[in-house]
Amino acid sequence: MPWEILMRPTIWISRANFVLLCVVAALITFASAQDTVAPLVHGISVADMDTSVNPGDDFSRYADGSWLKRTEIPPDRSRIGIFSSLTDLSNKRTAELIEEAARTNAPAGTGTRKIADLYHSYMDEAGIEARGLAPLKPHLEAIARIGNKRDLARALGETLRADVDPLNNTNFHTPHLFGLWVAPDFNDSGHYTAYLLQGGLGLPDREYYLSGSEHMNDLRTRYQAHVSAMLKLAGLSDTDARAARVVELEHAIAEKHWNLEDDQDVHKANNPWKRSEFATKAPGLDWKEYLRAAGLDKRENFIVWQPGAIIGEAALVASTPLETWKDWLSYHVIEEYAAALPKAFVEERFAFFGKVLSGTQQQRPRWQRAVGVVDALLGDEVGKLYARRYFPPQAKERAQEMVANIVAAFRKRIDALTWMAPATKAEAQAKLNTLYVGIGYPETWHDYQGYEVKPDDIFGNMWRSDLFEYHRQTSRLGKPVDRHEWSMTPQTVNAVNLPLQNALNFPAAILQPPFFDPDAPDAFNYGAIGSVIGHEVSHTFDSAGSAFDSRGTLRNWWTPSDLEHFNANTAKLAAQYDAYKPFPDLSLNGKQTLGENIADVAGLAAAYDAYHSTPGSKTAPAQQGFTADQQFFIASAQAHKTKEREAALRQQVLTNEHSPSEYRADAVRNIDAWYSAFDVRPGQKLYLAPEDRVRVW
Ligand SMILES: [Zn+2]
Repeated sequence: MPWEILMRPTIWISRANFVLLCVVAALITFASAQDTVAPLVHGISVADMDTSVNPGDDFSRYADGSWLKRTEIPPDRSRIGIFSSLTDLSNKRTAELIEEAARTNAPAGTGTRKIADLYHSYMDEAGIEARGLAPLKPHLEAIARIGNKRDLARALGETLRADVDPLNNTNFHTPHLFGLWVAPDFNDSGHYTAYLLQGGLGLPDREYYLSGSEHMNDLRTRYQAHVSAMLKLAGLSDTDARAARVVELEHAIAEKHWNLEDDQDVHKANNPWKRSEFATKAPGLDWKEYLRAAGLDKRENFIVWQPGAIIGEAALVASTPLETWKDWLSYHVIEEYAAALPKAFVEERFAFFGKVLSGTQQQRPRWQRAVGVVDALLGDEVGKLYARRYFPPQAKERAQEMVANIVAAFRKRIDALTWMAPATKAEAQAKLNTLYVGIGYPETWHDYQGYEVKPDDIFGNMWRSDLFEYHRQTSRLGKPVDRHEWSMTPQTVNAVNLPLQNALNFPAAILQPPFFDPDAPDAFNYGAIGSVIGHEVSHTFDSAGSAFDSRGTLRNWWTPSDLEHFNANTAKLAAQYDAYKPFPDLSLNGKQTLGENIADVAGLAAAYDAYHSTPGSKTAPAQQGFTADQQFFIASAQAHKTKEREAALRQQVLTNEHSPSEYRADAVRNIDAWYSAFDVRPGQKLYLAPEDRVRVW
């Protein structure tokens, strides 16, 4: 989806990323992207406009009407827009960079060599077939040797990985018993702590086990057959019975799991446990052995995200027969590394997770999957190449200057507020002072020196990568937080808000036309990417941002009366959106979309102020027949360019916190300057009397 992704404290990566490599595969569509996103004209796209429409009646259609008319949604998609075009483009560029690296004969130990070796190891189908089960064997043998529950605790601890991220990337899924997230402490955001999360399911979520619907029933039957097939391929006997026990165990685990709504409540998740408390609070698992095997036996403090689930799963370790746990461990190691095993495993895996679970009809060509793996395991190494080629330092400087001006505009607006208590204002200003806005690429790159990549060992390469990342993360526990650390790679078309770091990341891949173009006039850039940046900054001190203070600590810094004023102030905006009707029988829900609509209006207002704080804005000439202010507003609307199928649009209206793009583009009607820029008058459809225009910050 277009930049609705940008709009929440959490980003929009699919929750279905229960197997990393599968997700990367799913995200990389490799549609026949062409470099046509690069504009012939630097600035607004006049060819996309429909100037026969009066801007005061339908601004969205005025800005994007010709594009909407001529654009067809491809049959395999439910929507199309600038977001999908940019994603296609970024995927194509990433693939080219990886393939180029794979062709060079770079010296051993260099990042380029690692990219090449990893790529080749994945492409080495003949070698993978020849090795057969050999790479898997030692792991299955180790599981077979588990003789008691203490051994089991050790095996479970040895497979703990840093593979969840509940807040920044909203990934709650791990197939391991638990998942580890190393992040700033809720209660001391200056230091990294260990968050422990529920895990253990092969299917994406508890609903897949607990829902009584026919569809889910059918999925479970097919899942059990798939578990059996994987065990059989790995040479185990009696696999139908084993699979039944594995699925039964997962069903019991699912019953202990929290649901998504609870998962997302940071206040419920803030449960500090001391290491010494685990044995009494969550009996059943030999915690001493588990934490020792996980390398966490020196760690005093943890935060347990879903205590009920951790307690329930620990009890299941005691109450479920050892043999069932061993089958469960075997199945998961086979599944997790299936991509590195012979073709029969890959095909069986795709038949279930690709076709049955996701409806994908065809597996992508192997080279595309190889690109996905390299991008996932050596993301920063690929990112370095990407940034070097597609995001020069001058572009970074230009964007950083915009950010500084937008933050300054917010500072003035906060100062001028009459409804916010002085102490709250001071904290909002403090949040602006400490806000880190990462632009393009990180200040420092992840160092992969300790990660050994061999050209003929994809299984080992994947295994070592997971361990390498785990050790990288755990080595930081207790240490001071690097607030400038990124949680996205430069080649990702997205943006993210990191509340515990009070930071935003805008990767290079989104800093492209039609969001950002270093060769375009300021009016264009402030209208397009400037409004997006302003939108995100607004979130850092709105009702959502009020849960984290200027240091990123979990603490509500709003007073009850601030909240009351805020609600009264924004009720008008909710009413404005309630009146929009995409279909005769369906209206927007102004409350459901309020937070995002506020951010849209506030982002536009701050970006506009920021633009007018630049010296050039006073004398900026018209371009392509449009004044600078007109370009600013048209660019903001063109950044929302999207066409959806009716079903997708209806679903969005019912379930999403973001208004459909058409109405987001119309947020301009709350900005006074828009009226003078387009001579909008009473009687026109989008006209609002000055007292009805909403100004939040
Ligand atoms: Zn938002």
